Amino acid sequence: MPMKQVPQPISIFEKGSPGRMGANLPETDAPEVDLQAALGDLRDDLHLPELGELEVLRHFTNLSHINYGIETGFYPLGSCTMKYNPKINEATAGLPGFRAIHPMQPVETAPGAFEVLAQVQEILCEVAGFDEITLQPLAGAHGELTCLMLIKAYHDSRGEGAQRKYVLIPDSAHGTNPASAAACGYEVKSVPTDAHGNTDLEALRGMVNNEVAALMITNPSTLGLFEPNIKEICDLLHSVGAQVFCDGANMNAMVGTTRPGDHGFDCMHFNLHKTFSTPHGGGGPGCGAIGLMKHLEPFLPIPVIRRASNGKVQLETARPLSIGRVSAFYGQFLMEVRALTYLLAYGRQKMRNISRFAVLNANYVKARLRDVLPAAHDRHCMHECVLTATRYKKGGVRALDISKRLIDYGFHPPTNYFPLIVPEAIMIEPTETETKETLDAFCDAMIAICKEAEESPELLHGAPSTQIVGRLDEAAAVKNLDVRWIHPSRREKAPVSG
Ligand SMILES: *Cc1c(COP(=O)(O)O)cnc(C)c1O
Repeated sequence: MPMKQVPQPISIFEKGSPGRMGANLPETDAPEVDLQAALGDLRDDLHLPELGELEVLRHFTNLSHINYGIETGFYPLGSCTMKYNPKINEATAGLPGFRAIHPMQPVETAPGAFEVLAQVQEILCEVAGFDEITLQPLAGAHGELTCLMLIKAYHDSRGEGAQRKYVLIPDSAHGTNPASAAACGYEVKSVPTDAHGNTDLEALRGMVNNEVAALMITNPSTLGLFEPNIKEICDLLHSVGAQVFCDGANMNAMVGTTRPGDHGFDCMHFNLHKTFSTPHGGGGPGCGAIGLMKHLEPFLPIPVIRRASNGKVQLETARPLSIGRVSAFYGQFLMEVRALTYLLAYGRQKMRNISRFAVLNANYVKARLRDVLPAAHDRHCMHECVLTATRYKKGGVRALDISKRLIDYGFHPPTNYFPLIVPEAIMIEPTETETKETLDAFCDAMIAICKEAEESPELLHGAPSTQIVGRLDEAAAVKNLDVRWIHPSRREKAPVSG
């Protein structure tokens, strides 16, 4: 059954009463000043809220309860890896020695911080099978860009920079991939996906030549499918001197089980804020660490953080071929602390449970929903499954209607209409941290909604109906951004936003 109605909150400016106070101030011992006389033309309609302490407390506590987050419910947003972030990560990130550190303090006063960075690098090297790691990039997309800058510097160093103009990207890719390639000055060519959901090898063979700088490929793909020809694809690109970048946002499917470095990739970005459980959403902060092979090492961003043979961690800055810095200091330091906590808490032995349970959960959801929402490609999926809602379209129900109705059942919607090549796509990533009970409750809701889609589609068109706002015009919200609140008495006078 859908949840019960949430009361409509009003803004704090509409609450309270003139003269009411939340603070208990002592008697004033300073002379009174007539502000109007002292300062001149003061406005008399400031409309600051006047409330008691309890009213303020209740107002903000109730607002916080309207929020939906991973700590209040299941968050199946595909491609985002919304796993639980263990609280111990926050405990270590809050240790005074980490929290109170300043990026400008002399390097020799922060050996513990550099030890953290070195350890994260060493563990990520081992987990993903690369020779080097840098933690500087501040988001996944920033990691993509950094990898392309390394690739460009590599081609330049071989005198092939001008000749290599193209970056090949499968048509299932995340939008950041072509954006990063364009930002790095490359022209993008789109590689088709074949009928099984793999990269179309024949088409790729026709596109690969010595004008190609790199292939950017996501594995497992955004279809949630492991690319079975990945070694062959890497060999093909290398045979013409091109490089292969792995979009590693889907590393959650591989942690502890298989290593992209062993598949033939030259470099990869990690999303520490997805795979290694540092909180994300709402725009950050992120950490897009990258891994790379030896031949790209001369171009690493400075400073390079490296453990010397005596075990001490050192910073290298005299590196003539470096692409320079890609962020002001050393990356999102407290995210590295959280990631290290997470990595050490799992340890080498248990780490493979991350990918095993993530893959198991996604296949479970896919199997339970098979009769109402078939998979776009009916084969074993990795950590997420991409389903299609095309069968409801003739009755006027779109994938978005199903997702919005899910809100009425108390769940965050999955990802819609991505990847772009799947019609009416619903992309679900349960992650390893959810129980079978939660997945069953979610699948029961999805099955009930699909029944509604056939019997009473109007319920879906009007969804959500249990929230403080109904169906929002998301395009208009982005295009006509206006986040001001204006007091009712001043709305007439307010200038129209442009
Ligand atoms: C999230 C994601 C990215 C981009 O990561 P950001 O940290 O959001 O910049 C790139 N590719 C894929 C497949 C992703 O899921």
